[in-house]
Amino acid sequence: MCHHCDYADLLDAGNLGVTENRLKVLEVIGGNNFPLSVGDVYDTLARTGPINRVTVYRILDTLVEHGLIERISTGGRAFCYGLAPNENHPSHPHFYCKQCGQMNCLNPKSLPMDTDPLSKTFPGRIDKVEVRVDGICRNCLRLAEKG
Ligand SMILES: [Zn+2]
Ligand SMILES: [Zn+2]
Ligand SMILES: [Zn+2]
Repeated sequence: MCHHCDYADLLDAGNLGVTENRLKVLEVIGGNNFPLSVGDVYDTLARTGPINRVTVYRILDTLVEHGLIERISTGGRAFCYGLAPNENHPSHPHFYCKQCGQMNCLNPKSLPMDTDPLSKTFPGRIDKVEVRVDGICRNCLRLAEKG
């Protein structure tokens, strides 16, 4: 898990009460180095104790609404969830494999996201920039070569 983020503090800062389930969801998402689907979050939590799938959905929605985690769109209808950028986690692009559906976090420096030029010409307010790079991951490429 991430040793920099204090999830109770994050909940506090987001004006959210600290509950055991919210902390658990944050720990699962923050402890992972790639974004997770709802199913992944649920499966991980279900291993440690009984939890309702609806509860997981509700908590994810609340955490997104309060800006603690972000919803990242995959190529299909599904979403993945990762920690929202904060002082310990710079905003970064994601790679989506069209073959296996795996989503990965890319190094923030590999594709710098500088919104300064845009904010100089764009008349509105920019809250979030989402960059998703689609392609075929290394594993899938390797399998294709063998095939
Ligand atoms: Zn962290
Ligand atoms: Zn793949
Ligand atoms: Zn990420």
